Amino acid sequence: MPCMVQSAAHRRRVLAGIGAVLLVPMWPASVRAQPVIAELQAGGARIELQFAEGFDAALRQRATRWVERALVAIVGYFGRFPLTEVELLVQPVAGAGVRHGTAFGHPAPYVRLRVGTDTTTAQFDDDWVMVHEFVHLAVPRVPRRQSWLQEGLATYVEGIARVRAGQLDAAAMWHGLQRDMPQGQPQAGDAGLDHTPTWGRTYWGGALFSLLADVQIRRRSGVQRGLEHALRGVLAAGGSYADAWDLPRILAVGDAAIGQPTLEELYALMKDCPAPIDLAGLWADLGVVARGPTVELRDDAPLAAVRRAIAG
Ligand SMILES: [Zn+2]
Repeated sequence: MPCMVQSAAHRRRVLAGIGAVLLVPMWPASVRAQPVIAELQAGGARIELQFAEGFDAALRQRATRWVERALVAIVGYFGRFPLTEVELLVQPVAGAGVRHGTAFGHPAPYVRLRVGTDTTTAQFDDDWVMVHEFVHLAVPRVPRRQSWLQEGLATYVEGIARVRAGQLDAAAMWHGLQRDMPQGQPQAGDAGLDHTPTWGRTYWGGALFSLLADVQIRRRSGVQRGLEHALRGVLAAGGSYADAWDLPRILAVGDAAIGQPTLEELYALMKDCPAPIDLAGLWADLGVVARGPTVELRDDAPLAAVRRAIAG
C-alpha cells in the first residue's frame, strides 16, 4: 500500500485531532493511493485541492475550473476568502454530477467533495454545492440544534453569490427561492427554529431567516447595507468555520457591523415561536412574480430597489 502524500498542515491536523497512536485513514482503502494536489490562490487564501485516485487529467482540469469559479463567487460576496488556508478533498464516485459536499471544522477546516467521474463542464457550471460549502467556511460553527443558521445562510447566499459573479441568471435564482422557500415555513406542531431540527426548517427555515434579514437590513439602510455586510463583520471580528461561537454572539457581531439590530430582532421573533411568514406578500413587494417555469422581476414593485440590491 503506497503511503498517502499529505501536506504538513494535514499531518498536523490529523495528529492534533486523534493523537499519534491512532492514525485513521481519511479515505476508504479504494481511494487511498497518492492524491494529485493542486494549489490555488484566491482572496488572500491558499486553497489546496487534493484529488483522490480516479480522476484523469481532463476531469481534474474541469474540476479545478469548477473550484475557481466558486472562489470568484465567494470572494465577490464576502470581499475575501473566509479563511487563510483550506484543503479540499475531492473523491470520485460513479456517474455524472457533483454528488455531495461536507465542510468539517476539526481540527482545521476542510471540505470533502464527491464528484461523478463523468461530470461535464456544463454540470460543473450549474453546480451549487461548492459555493454552498464555501459559505459554511465564512460562519462560525454553532451548536447542532442551531445548524439552521449555518445551513440557512449557505442555502440562501450561494445563489446570490453566483448571480453577482455572472454565473447564474437572476430570474432563475429568484424562481428557485420562490419555489423552495415554503419548505421553511413552520408545519403543524413546529416550534421556533431553535427547537425544530427538521430538514425543511433547518435548510429553508434558515434561508427564510436570511432572506428576511437581507430585506430588512436593506430597507433600514436605504439599500446601502445588506446581509453580506453583517457577515463580513463577523469575518472581520475573527469569526469563521475555524471557530465555534454561540449563535447570539454571531448575530450581535453582525448587527454591530451594520449598525442596526435586525439579526437579533429576527432571532427573537423566530427562535422559539413558529412565526409563519407571508411569503406571497413578500414576493409581491419584491416584484418577484411567478411566470410558469420562471419569474418576472418587476421594477414597479414597492421593494424592487431592495431586490435589485440583493441580486437582479
Ligand atoms: Zn450545508
